[in-house]
Parts: sequence; structure tokens; C-alpha cells
Amino acid sequence: MSKIAVLTSGGDAPGMNAAIRAVVRSALAKGTSVLGVRNGYAGLISGNLTPLGARDVGGIIQQGGTVLGSARCPEFETEEGRLRALRTLHQHDIEGLVVIGGNGSQAGSHALSEMDFPVVGVASTIDNDLYGSEITLGVDTALNIALEATDRLKVTAASHQRAFLIEVMGRNCGYLALNVGIAAGAEAIVIPEAETSPEDVAQEVRNAYKRGKTHALVVVAEGSKYNAHRLEQHFHENRKRLGFDLRVTILGHVQRGGAPSSADRLLASRLGGAAAERLIDGEAGVLIGLLGGKVAATPLTEVAQGKKEIDPHLWELAQVLAR
Ligand code: ADP
Repeated sequence: MSKIAVLTSGGDAPGMNAAIRAVVRSALAKGTSVLGVRNGYAGLISGNLTPLGARDVGGIIQQGGTVLGSARCPEFETEEGRLRALRTLHQHDIEGLVVIGGNGSQAGSHALSEMDFPVVGVASTIDNDLYGSEITLGVDTALNIALEATDRLKVTAASHQRAFLIEVMGRNCGYLALNVGIAAGAEAIVIPEAETSPEDVAQEVRNAYKRGKTHALVVVAEGSKYNAHRLEQHFHENRKRLGFDLRVTILGHVQRGGAPSSADRLLASRLGGAAAERLIDGEAGVLIGLLGGKVAATPLTEVAQGKKEIDPHLWELAQVLAR
């Protein structure tokens, strides 16, 4: 291949820039030139592309977000939109595409690959809900940001002998909440995969007090049936009966913006480099991720159908360690 393109799509994740850099420099090392597509699939449809040389991707490895911009593009979910994207790719003599993004973005990669265009995905989402990679770009940084916030809340909770609830991101996946909960030493964790009710949470907090704890921390995944708002409402309405109230903090998008951790920079470098090399060597229609600690390719058809599950042992461990 003499020319490939790279784009970042969907929710931004710390490490995307390091992945762009790795794609560009690995492709250049193989004698292949690279075009950067601005704003995800939207830029592919409108033809918003820019050449990326080795110096253009200098000084970005330590930056969160994505210098190419990202976007959600409903038009790409239509065949007409994808045909327009294909036209742009052909007009610029692009022979292959690297898509750095999460679940939705890789569904897009799959759709494009079904139209016989060579695409390789890079597993990138702070939610860690993507099949085909045990850990995705941005997760480690997001975990560390959430952990710093929970540690701070614990200090206040301990000083005032109160119960605090913190909601973390993750869409419909409880990975972030479960891992933050364990690492922060939470008394209770609420994830979509387990569907703990508000009364269950109350019982866990009450049990913690009975075991001699003077304060409690509850970590909730945003995609849970009982998210922070619903739990807050329940606890407020039943405050007298329950005997305590929960102070709620919703972490939201601050979890996304940080400078990528060393783990994310290294993962991005490995996955981005492998994506470019494999694409140029003729391996397409796959997602590049980490499996068993090694860089591995999973067919996009499997990625589109697969569902990543929560590790049941980790969930059990969380209950044991909350004692
Ligand atoms: P993420 O990649 O972070 O999961 P989204 O779910 O928002 O983000 O998806 C990003 C973009 O991927 C969408 O705006 C759309 O352009 C594209 N996309 C999502 N699902 C599909 C699909 N089924 N077919 C084609 N493109 C899709």
C-alpha cells in the first residue's frame, strides 16, 4: 500500500493521540504515506483530510483527546453515507483505513469492511466494553482519574462520618465502576450486570456501619438501572426510615480529559503500530486489541456480534474485600 488514512471516532479516549502517532510513524517506516481524517466518519464523508508526516504527530503523545477531532456521525450508519465515504477514499487514492474508536466506531469499521474496503480497528474506549480486547485505550487513565476523585471523597467521608456515592462512566458496562470500587475500597458497587436495588445498597451501607465502619463509599456505574440520580432520590425520600442519607457526586466527562497514563501511551503505541503494519501487510477486517497481554487481531464480524462480560471472580472479590 502506498497510502493509508487514519481517523478517531466516537467518544474520545486518552491515548488516541499516541495511537495516531504510532500509526503514522509505523506506516512511514514501511514507505507508506498517511492522511489524517478530521472529525471521524464525518470528515470521511465531507472529504476533510490532511497529510500527516512524522513531524506533524510530534509533541502529542502526552496529550489527552485527539488532535484529529472526533464526532458522532449518524449519516455513516446509512449506506448512502458510507458510499460517500468510499468515494472520498477512492478520490484520494487511499488503499486502507485505520479506525481508532469504541463499539460504535468499530461497527462502522465492520460496515465499511463489508463493502470490501480494507479497514483495521484500534480498540479505544474508556468504557472497556469492546469485545476483542481485554483492555482498551483510555481505560487505565480514566480509572486513575476516577480513583483520585474517590480517594478525595473518602477523606471527606471519613472526616464527617458520612456515606458518599460516586457515579463513574462506562455506558452499559460496569467495568470502570467495578475496578474503581475495588481499587478505592468501596463498601458497595452498583453495575448494570448485577442490578443491585436501592434497598440492597442501603443494606450494604447499614451492614458496613454494623461491622464498625464509620463511613461508606458507594461506586455506581452510569448505565445501571439505579444510577446516581435514582439512588439519590430513593435515599432522600426514605431518609428517616433508612437513618442516613447519601451525598452524591457524578464524575462525568472529567474522566476522559486527562493526560494519558504510561500504560495508555504504551498500549496506544503497540496497538497503533500493529494496526498500520498489519493493514499495509494485507491483513484487513480486524480489530487490533490486547488478548492475554499480547497484541492480537479479532475479525470485525466477531467484534460486532460479541459481548464483553464482567469477570465474575472480580465481582466476588469486591464483595469479600468490602468487609
Ligand atoms: P464509540 O465508538 O465511542 O462507541 P459511537 O457509538 O457514538 O461511539 O459511534 C461512533 C460513530 O460510529 C457513530 O456516530 C457512527 O458514525 C458510527 N457507527 C456507529 N454504529 C454504526 C453502525 N452500526 N454502522 C455504521 N456506523 C456506525
